[in-house]
Amino acid sequence: MKPVEKDSGLLCLKCNLPLEMRKIRFVYLGYSFDTELPRCPGCGQLFLPEDLVKDKVAEVESSLEDK
Ligand SMILES: [Zn+2]
Repeated sequence: MKPVEKDSGLLCLKCNLPLEMRKIRFVYLGYSFDTELPRCPGCGQLFLPEDLVKDKVAEVESSLEDK
């Protein structure tokens, strides 16, 4: 388990700038979520942490099963 940090601690490989946490609307299977993702202030590149994507996908899938 990695410690959860508010500061993403990531650098954009292109700009070498620290990524900022930005509130982003994430859409999957027609469902949308507001979530914070690391984004480069220079080029606007978003980084999608694989764990976060998996969590959100799992949420959507469990809500679909609940129907
Ligand atoms: Zn960049």
